[in-house]
Amino acid sequence: MKTLFEKIYDGEIPAEIHYRDELCCAFTDISPQAPVHILVVPRKPIPRVADAGKDDLEILGHLLLTAASVAKKLEIDETGYRIAINNGPDGGETVPHLHVHILGGRQMKWPPG
Ligand code: AMP
Repeated sequence: MKTLFEKIYDGEIPAEIHYRDELCCAFTDISPQAPVHILVVPRKPIPRVADAGKDDLEILGHLLLTAASVAKKLEIDETGYRIAINNGPDGGETVPHLHVHILGGRQMKWPPG
C-alpha cells in the first residue's frame, strides 16, 4: 500500500508541487508553520532517517541539495530558513515517510518547541 507522500509524488493526491524529479518532489505543507513551509520527500518510501541505509546515501544528499535549491527558488535563501527532519514519536514525526521540512519567511526560534 502506498504512503500518503507516495500518492502525492504520483499525483494521486493534490499538492502544490514546487519541484519534482526521478528521486524526490517538493510541495507545500498542508498545515504551514511559517510563511514558507515546504516538504521535500524522496520517491522511495524510507520511513525515517533511522531506517535509511548505505544504499540511501545519494537520496539523502539529494534531499538536502534539493531543499537548498527550492529555498532559493522561493527567494528565502538570503533571509535564511530552517531545515528539519522529525524522527520518531519524540521527534514529532507524524507521517512515516521520510521528509525534510523547509521553514522560512519569518525568524525561527531556538530551541524549537
Ligand atoms: P512530520 O510531523 O514531521 O511527520 O511532518 C508531516 C507533515 O506532513 C506535517 O507538517 C503535515 O502538516 C504534513 N502533511 C500531512 N498531510 C499532508 C498533505 N496531504 N499535503 C501536504 N502536507 C501534508
